[in-house]
Amino acid sequence: MRIGHGYDVHRFGGEGPIHLGGVEISYDRGLLAHSDGDVVIHALCDAMLGAAALGDIGRHFPDTDQAHAGADSRRFLAHIVTLLEEKGYRLHNADVTVIAQAPKLAPHIPAMKATLAGITGLDEDDLNIKATTTEGLGFTGRGEGIAAHAVVLLTRVGPTKPTDSK
Ligand SMILES: [Zn+2]
Repeated sequence: MRIGHGYDVHRFGGEGPIHLGGVEISYDRGLLAHSDGDVVIHALCDAMLGAAALGDIGRHFPDTDQAHAGADSRRFLAHIVTLLEEKGYRLHNADVTVIAQAPKLAPHIPAMKATLAGITGLDEDDLNIKATTTEGLGFTGRGEGIAAHAVVLLTRVGPTKPTDSK
């Protein structure tokens, strides 16, 4: 087994909706990003890449590449699932914490879980998403942005195949 951790932040700006965990959530403000600003998926992607020693999401999807402008982050996650398969790993379980003062995320967590389970092939029992505020403290507490942490375990399912390691 291999463990990985991911962390991501995006700043509020412009108009909503926002995208978290592959789900569109209506909100008066948006999240500024080169892609759709989905901190949940970005943290999860970085945790998966970290566990497989494959670098980080910026290496695989550079924000200098116009092809990724406004990109649907679900596409990044699907690509990383494939990269792990090619390296002989499968996601075993994942735990994600979203840190946001607003909007209220609890009502959206079941849809996020269903979406991410669908992309990763995880059983929903092996995927946890939770949301917390910071009680008004720090940049998330002041409503300046949203952060997410993710930890994952990977299991080895097969021999390493040669991969294009840039
Ligand atoms: Zn991000």
